[in-house]
This record gives sequence, structure tokens and C-alpha cells, in this order.
Amino acid sequence: MLQSANSNLASSKRLDIAFQQCINPACAATYEARSVRTSCDRCGDLLDILYEWDRAEVPKQMNEFEAMWGRRYDPVRFSGVWRFHELLPFCGQDEIVTVGEGQTLLQQTDSVGKFVGMNAGKLHLQYEGMNPSGSFKDNGMCAAFTHACMMNAKRAACASTGNTSASLALYCSATKKMKAVIFIGSGKISYGKLSQALDYGALTVQIAGDFDDAMIRVKQISDELGIYLVNSVNPFRLEGQKTIMFRIMEALRWEIPDWIVVPGGNLGNSSAFGKAFAELKQLGLIDRIPRLAVINARGADTLYELFERRGVRWNGGQVDMDPIRQYYDELDRTGAKADTIASAIEINRPVNLKKCLRALEGMDGVVRQVSDQEILDAKAQVGAGGFGCEPASAASVAGAKMLRREGVIAPSDRVVCVLTGHELKDPTATVAYHSADQEMFNKVLGSRGVKKASHANRAIAVPNELDDIIKAIQLYS
Ligand SMILES: *Cc1c(COP(=O)(O)O)cnc(C)c1O
Ligand SMILES: [Zn+2]
Repeated sequence: MLQSANSNLASSKRLDIAFQQCINPACAATYEARSVRTSCDRCGDLLDILYEWDRAEVPKQMNEFEAMWGRRYDPVRFSGVWRFHELLPFCGQDEIVTVGEGQTLLQQTDSVGKFVGMNAGKLHLQYEGMNPSGSFKDNGMCAAFTHACMMNAKRAACASTGNTSASLALYCSATKKMKAVIFIGSGKISYGKLSQALDYGALTVQIAGDFDDAMIRVKQISDELGIYLVNSVNPFRLEGQKTIMFRIMEALRWEIPDWIVVPGGNLGNSSAFGKAFAELKQLGLIDRIPRLAVINARGADTLYELFERRGVRWNGGQVDMDPIRQYYDELDRTGAKADTIASAIEINRPVNLKKCLRALEGMDGVVRQVSDQEILDAKAQVGAGGFGCEPASAASVAGAKMLRREGVIAPSDRVVCVLTGHELKDPTATVAYHSADQEMFNKVLGSRGVKKASHANRAIAVPNELDDIIKAIQLYS
């Protein structure tokens, strides 16, 4: 089955049913799961982690996973990722690294539902900010980190808009299994995220450039120095991120929603979701696949531009690369840089573009772009009707609202918006939105074309006098 050039006999004692395979069907080269690569040696395309499912022990029904949750004294089954180990079986149970990731919540909220335009009971928010490092990235990091440990890596690196580095730094600090080396662009990263990397003790390299620049450098450095790369070009990350979909199904008692709506940055999440549902269908564990909506920020809308405007499709794996190259040339020529308040999706060259095109095909998907104004208004609604989220996450709610308005989503559809990061990741954006201080509003948001904060909850200023305070409370409550 495997025709890997560098098969490693030492590891063949273990019953390995996983392997890596090039996503380009015309190449389809395979490699050992126990090897480190971020692209195909032969053609340079992205890699998938695939399994010989007929040799795997997979439950016959999804509800068999409920019994795993009953075994939460076992750290592997406590984890919201590894509870589903049978659906990402690239490692032995004894090799799994976990810090208790994936204890996340699906909240049904009618106030946000009303804002989006949904019937009562139909809008759900999946809070991935509840993860240990405060974003969905922990789902994928525990899988990549496990693989890094299987490969005896001593250092791991990533380029990051903030959350990937926070997650890697946390796995390094909590497990002491390796040293984190993180690359960030200058001036873009939010303090919430930067503070995590510094506090967890990661070696933090701030280069003069943006995320796309940092991404190019980290690839070069990890090749040069043999450092394990955990960016989402790492196919193991996506295996862990599949479990976000499993947990949504679990919360819905294994029913399939009609729509999954997710913000799109490097497109790892959307790619992973597509793979999750394709595999469940292949395994006969589900009979229907939900539709996918990927939401770009207007200031970083490469996927929208290519998919909706220039008609680029997966096309059975024969992606027409010409319009993609042409678009990237245009970006270079005009010196266009990604620019949005939603810093986690401020990315112009999404590394998982082709995998995302495949997911859009498999899930009958659509792509939309929303303005920073729409993102912040949606974010304020999530805060007022739920547990809050960071700006990038609210793109999903703003996108759902747009699709509802267009009639693409029906008011009776069951919709799940994935909220990718915690409210406290970026307090600057939140405070600027709610602030009565026009100067702060203009500085943080006005420069991005945000005109007004329609859903602002302003603090009221009162003199330090009992009577005045009582009057103010009676007036406003
Ligand atoms: C990384 C990140 C995204 C983008 O996810 P991709 O998988 O790269 O598309 C969105 N929101 C938050 C909060 C993130 O940290
Ligand atoms: Zn290939």
C-alpha cells in the first residue's frame, strides 16, 4: 500500500493504518505517517492524512462516542479531540499528548438568531474560545504536537497572527516536551495573544513584515534548522480540527445541521470540516452532509475573489492555477496588503486554498466577505446574547446574516456559526467599539472604515457623589 521513499522499518512494529498522500489526484504520491513533511516531495502540493479504514476499529454509529465521554477519568477520553481518536487514528493511544483541549460549548441563542434573521431555536454558536489557550487552534495543535513528539522533535515553530503561537507556546510550556519558536509580524498582533506567547516562555521572533512575510520565513527557517513546523500546512493539524464538527454533532444528539458557517483565514478549519464530513459519509456514519459557508473579511478576501468572482473550483482536483497566479501577481504589483480589524483572518495568501476548494465542492459551499463594520456589529450581538468572541470569529455571524438576507440560508435552517476565539483575545477592539471616547474609536476603528457603533454599550460618567450616582442608575436602568 505504501510506496514511501524513506520507509522507516523501526516503526513498523506498530500497526500503522495512517499514511500521508498528496492531494493532487494526478500525483497521489504517498508517504509514511511517521515522516515530517509539509508538502509533496514530487509535485509540491499539500498533503492529506489518510487511513486504511478497513483495518481500523471504527464505531458503527456516532452515538457510540457517548460512552467515551463516560470515561473522562482517562485524559485521552476527557479530551474533546482524542475522545474521537478512532476517527483520527494516526498514533497509538500511548503516544497521545493532551492538555484537556476541546471542552467547548454549543449555545443556542435566539437574540443573536433574531439579529441574523433566523426563526427561534435555529441559530447555534460553537464556542471554540473555551479551549485552554482560548482559540480553536488547540484542536489542531494537540494533533500536530503529538506527531512532533512521535518524530522526536526538540523544537517546533510557527508563523502566526497570534492564536497559533499562543497554542503552540501553551503545549510547550504545559508538557515541557519541546521549545516553541514563533514568528509574528510587527504591529499587528493583539496584546491578548502576544501576552500568552511571552508568558508561556516561547522564543518570540518579531520580524519587520506582515503574516504572509512571516509565513515565508518560518518555512525557510524550519527547513534550514530542521525545526518541526506546526502551521496549518501541517496536515496533522487538520486531523484534530475535524473534531469540532464531531462535537457539534454530539451536542445536537448526532443530528446534522443545515449550515456550518466559519471565518476563513488560512482555511485550515474549512478544509478540516470538509474532510471530516467526507470521511463520516465514506464510513457510513452519516447520510447527509451540511452546507459550508466560509466568510472572509473584506480587507482579506482572496477566497471570495477567487471562488465567487473568478470561478476557481476544485474541479475533481484539476484546479485551474492561472487565475490564482494572476490574482497573486496583481496583489504583488499593487503592493496590496491584507487589512482588517479581524487580525486572525488578516491573510492574503491562504496556505490551504486548494483543500478549501475541495471542501466547498464536497459541502456545496459558498463564500462571502463582510466589512469590519459588519464584523464589529455582529460581535457586539454575540457579546450581548452570549459569551462574546474576538473580531475574526464574529465574521461567521455577520456572514450568516448576509446569507439570510440574500435568501441563501432559510429562516428555518439549522445554522451553526463557529466562534473561533475568545472574547478576551482582543479587548482593544471591544473597548474601542463600546467607548464614548471618540479619539479612541477613531484611532482603533475609524481608520478601518468603521463609522458607528450601533450596538455600543457605553459606560456612564458620573461625579463621585452619592446622589448623582443614584440618579444615574435610576435614569439608565
Ligand atoms: C486562526 C484563526 C482563524 C482562521 O482560521 P483558518 O483555519 O486559518 O481559516 C479564525 N479565527 C480565529 C480566532 C483564529 O485564531
Ligand atoms: Zn504530489
